[in-house]
Amino acid sequence: MSETAEPPTTAKSFPDRVGVMGGGRMGAGIAHAFLSAGATVIGVDINDDALEAARNRITKSVTGSIDRGAPGTAEEWMQRVRLSTDADDFADCSLVVEAVPESMELKTKAFNAISQAAPEAVIATNTSSLSVTELADVVTNDVIGLHFFNPVPASKLVEVVVAKSTPEKLVSDAQEWVEALGKTPVVVKDAPGFASSRLGVAIALEAIRMVEQGVASPKDIDNAMVLGYKFPVGPLELTDIVGLDVRLGIAEYLEETLGERFAPPKLMREMVERGELGRKAGKGFYDYSSDSQC
Ligand code: NAD
Repeated sequence: MSETAEPPTTAKSFPDRVGVMGGGRMGAGIAHAFLSAGATVIGVDINDDALEAARNRITKSVTGSIDRGAPGTAEEWMQRVRLSTDADDFADCSLVVEAVPESMELKTKAFNAISQAAPEAVIATNTSSLSVTELADVVTNDVIGLHFFNPVPASKLVEVVVAKSTPEKLVSDAQEWVEALGKTPVVVKDAPGFASSRLGVAIALEAIRMVEQGVASPKDIDNAMVLGYKFPVGPLELTDIVGLDVRLGIAEYLEETLGERFAPPKLMREMVERGELGRKAGKGFYDYSSDSQC
């Protein structure tokens, strides 16, 4: 895929008008990905401040692409972005991607609002761990999971999560869309944690237990995996990047659905209570207080 400021021709079923609900870290990245493939993006968030933050995030992400050689100017790209606080603006979208925070209650509300505005649209959820089947049951729309990774522009993987009610044709369409975004789809049955979160969190929890037990320092544990097992980033550094609070939420859900082996270590809870949430907080397993990106 080549990034473009103009709508190119992509996969035959590729949606040309895509809604994104939630303009946070992931929503902005997902908006950028669909812009890259030529779609117009309708972004919805809760209030004007959130919309302004979303606009800044998308512009920054788009500018990054242009700096890496994509054609056009940020203004040209941003002409295909409409931001709103009203979900009714999803009315003409054939696909709406939901990227609100990881809470069943919030996502259920988001699904209802999207469905009311666009009853014929496909709804894709970016949930990291919640049941896509349970979410699909809330609406009459066709539903699938499209689990993008952070940061979206640099991540090549999208998990295509198949709910019990997801039509087969949508599974193959979704794979085509992901490929049109220049990413690689992995098709996973809707099971807690899918493939990536389940394995990734299992390794992170064990690494945290090792820190707790004084087996080795965070740096040495990460180095063991990076140098010994060719992980691109160590499990503790990755936990800092994702956010300890986010991973704690996923671990609690996996403990509930898959059993005690996913019980969050005491150290993880204590760090979250102390506000040591990782990179975004300036401190996690590592210290980022001098990092200008925090
Ligand atoms: P975030 O907190 O950065 O952004 C969430 C956005 O949703 C915010 O802008 C918020 O204002 C908005 N929002 C809240 N309620 C809303 C509503 N009712 N309508 C519209 N917008 C609303 O969160 P994030 O990190 O972008 O995560 C979003 C989703 O993506 C979660 O399900 C998360 O599990 C998943 N995810 C996160 C990551 C990650 O590394 N952060 C990776 C993969 C998937």
